[in-house]
Amino acid sequence: MDLPNFADLVALDAEHVMQTYGRAPVAFVRGEGTVLYDSDGRRYLDFLSGLAVTSLGHAHPAVADAIAEQARTLLHVSNLYYNALQPQVAERLDALIGGGGRVFFCNSGAEANECAIKLARRYGQTHGGPERFHVISAYGSFHGRTLTTLAATGQPQKQETFQPLPVGFHQVAFGDVDALAAAMDERVCAVLLEPVQGEGGVQPAPPGYLEAVRALCDEREALLVMDEVQTGLGRTGAWFGFQHSGVRPDVVAMAKALGNGMPIGACWARAEVAAAFRPGDHATTFGGQPLAAAAARATLAVMEAEDVPARAAGAGKRLVDALREVPGVAGVRGAGLLIAAELDGLEAKPVADECLRRGLVCNAVTATALRLAPPLLVSDDEIAEAVTILAGVLADALDAARGGAGEEAR
Ligand SMILES: *Cc1c(COP(=O)(O)O)cnc(C)c1O
Repeated sequence: MDLPNFADLVALDAEHVMQTYGRAPVAFVRGEGTVLYDSDGRRYLDFLSGLAVTSLGHAHPAVADAIAEQARTLLHVSNLYYNALQPQVAERLDALIGGGGRVFFCNSGAEANECAIKLARRYGQTHGGPERFHVISAYGSFHGRTLTTLAATGQPQKQETFQPLPVGFHQVAFGDVDALAAAMDERVCAVLLEPVQGEGGVQPAPPGYLEAVRALCDEREALLVMDEVQTGLGRTGAWFGFQHSGVRPDVVAMAKALGNGMPIGACWARAEVAAAFRPGDHATTFGGQPLAAAAARATLAVMEAEDVPARAAGAGKRLVDALREVPGVAGVRGAGLLIAAELDGLEAKPVADECLRRGLVCNAVTATALRLAPPLLVSDDEIAEAVTILAGVLADALDAARGGAGEEAR
């Protein structure tokens, strides 16, 4: 299909697409590894990976081949029939999580959490009675945009517009064990947490927090549900973010990186918990269909062969070390290759915009912090190039902030 030029594309979008996004002024049309090209042929380093999605980089040949071959073989079958690929993907995910579980396949992160919440309610109902359906999550969390996952998302400003939301959702401060203990009565069926809050600003759980939450869940008979949609599959330097702690969750939601760009999500649960779902309790038309499952199988095979958690840990350390040396960066936090650079008295949005103009894709995850989440196979040269671009942008921004030569004067 012919591509319209960029100005025409913007006009077409404004006229025909619901305006739910504040889009940056660029259209990417092609990618390879860490590199993206826009509609004018300009090259960018992708240090966002579609928000932790393309963890193996763009157009990974093994994933592309698997998709092409599956598309020629069988795109879709109903979940009313056995699917030759789903159990294979489920088997690998179960092994990576630690074993002893079952997997439900869906199409997105919100759907993975939706499944987790329905399962937790079902389990709570059968183990604690009809009143046990409440879910506690954390302020600053992000769990999705469906009404239920929005109710679980601890960002009141995102919820206000869509009241009334489903009932039974409560938030407590992330990292505050006492607040959680106070909120956990016999109505609570689950505690839902991200091991590192992604959209909330790349905030890792404080040391010991997940262990304390696990102990509380055991004591009060609630399930521990980890939202690993952003952190899962190697991103943080472990296969799953919870694996940096000693805890074993009851339920794990994942999506983003699972198909390296193919839409697929999954909800894993301990077998005894998974058994709370009976045939007919939950279903999806597309979830885990052959095309998506083939992409996931190929993605996981490459991830295991490349040992992406180790790659993420190594590259993450090099990126963090380099960022700490950059004037204008006040601090760096995160895990593996999910990193936030806190800026020194600068606003993050204009810095991210200028990075984009100079060929580096990253985003403002808070008003004062940039998020960096490159592919897990990112090279040292690409890290060096990205840090050089960012350092240049920050140097100019600091100059301008000090009242030196403004942008216009250059
Ligand atoms: C992105 C994200 C989601 C939502 O995933 P979608 O695929 O956009 O529905 C849920 N939880 C976390 C932690 C995420 O980062």
